[in-house]
Amino acid sequence: MKTVVEISEMDRRSVLHPFTYLQDYAEGAIAPTIVETGKGVRIKDASGREYIDGFAGLYCVNVGYGRTEVAEAIARQAYKLAYYHSYAAHTTEELARLSDRLVKMAPGRMSKVFFGLSGSDANETQAKIVWYYNNLRGKPAKKKIIARERGYHGCSVVSGSMTGLSFYHDHMDLPVAGILRTGVPHHYRGALPGETEEAFSERRARELEALILAEGPETVAAFIAEPVLGTGGIIPPPSGYWSRIQAVLKKYDVLLIADEVICGFGRTGAMFGSDLYGMVPDLVTVAKGLTSAYVPLSAAIVSEQVYDVMQEATPQVGAFSHGYTYSGHPIGAAAANAVLDIVERDDLPGQAAKKGDYLLGRLKAELEQNPIVGEVRGVGMMAAVEFVPDRGVKVPFSPALKVGARISQAARNRNLIARAMPHGDILGFAPPLTMSEAEIDEMVFIAKAAVDEVLRELYAQGAVKG
Ligand SMILES: *Cc1c(COP(=O)(O)O)cnc(C)c1O
Repeated sequence: MKTVVEISEMDRRSVLHPFTYLQDYAEGAIAPTIVETGKGVRIKDASGREYIDGFAGLYCVNVGYGRTEVAEAIARQAYKLAYYHSYAAHTTEELARLSDRLVKMAPGRMSKVFFGLSGSDANETQAKIVWYYNNLRGKPAKKKIIARERGYHGCSVVSGSMTGLSFYHDHMDLPVAGILRTGVPHHYRGALPGETEEAFSERRARELEALILAEGPETVAAFIAEPVLGTGGIIPPPSGYWSRIQAVLKKYDVLLIADEVICGFGRTGAMFGSDLYGMVPDLVTVAKGLTSAYVPLSAAIVSEQVYDVMQEATPQVGAFSHGYTYSGHPIGAAAANAVLDIVERDDLPGQAAKKGDYLLGRLKAELEQNPIVGEVRGVGMMAAVEFVPDRGVKVPFSPALKVGARISQAARNRNLIARAMPHGDILGFAPPLTMSEAEIDEMVFIAKAAVDEVLRELYAQGAVKG
């Protein structure tokens, strides 16, 4: 076995890490964290240090770490048949079973499931299906896709273009053409003085309609959105938002792509975010919670309305010419079936609803009155705390103060992983849905200590008036 130092040096020489300051890592200013084991809501690093994972990896290990029944399902399938492709109607029992249950579970009137390996590639598939659908039904001009500011849909070429966070575009020649942007439904930041949530939702819907009319409805194909905005800041929609948005989409024959990559399989307290908010999507994207990240798997779920057009075009267009080597990978399907067995048997959506209420209540009790806390928000097992220097005026901290990152680091120093969300000073929580109330207490206790520590520093710096 290699020593910690040997692993670190090999890693530093050879791994191109996502979201890492490359020079700082190369020069040794940042040390790698070598993650060795995980059990329940905790991970352990190579030095034996244990952390509570308040973010379930990247909001994905919903059933918690170390579930032997999932490991066994993966092993069983690997011994039996590690791989076969799903081109030209090849399949496996696990793949057929998984697809059948996804079609039945998913919101909307779904017909078929196309499998990928990541949320990014599934959204890439959704974009191609949207374009394909409109070509096949004789509307070749209807191609533009509307996404929201601060929405997150992945980092591949089209999915990264749909993502509404500029640092995913900068210096990488994104976004590509044909992606339109509409406003983020964040009442705390976006509402006019005195504007109710309902009125704010109405304004967002009118803006969407104005955008569609300005572009020409005959050129607008789809609207993609997360039921609860995730990476952009964990923002539940204001009341009345989804009914108003859907009315606009329907009026102009614009498809709704529900990006359920985070929300899907229980995180919001319902099986899908769409179920919680009464969304009836035409296309549904799932990943993360689908296998709880035990192996990579994603899916683009397609409605009857869209699929029927695809099927009817067969005599003109031939085979559906889209597919990955690993589409429908049997090990991924086996892992997903084992994870969904747990989700259903243990009613993880119900657990997330109940424990999510508890989590939000605890966060509000401990942090809402803190002088630098502007908003505590959440739904189900996803929550966020947004920091501001002055609660009265809501103006953000100077980015140079790195308040969010410092609070996240202070939590980390106390063995809690809570994510500094990439946009603004926001601390995010999205633990495994299996987290107990005692573990939630422990997590919130540490988070409060971390906020208080940085608050004291900010007083000392004169960045907050005492
Ligand atoms: C994580 C995420 C994606 C991208 O998934 P990857 O597997 O990282 O490509 C897409 N949409 C949403 C809402 C996500 O949270």
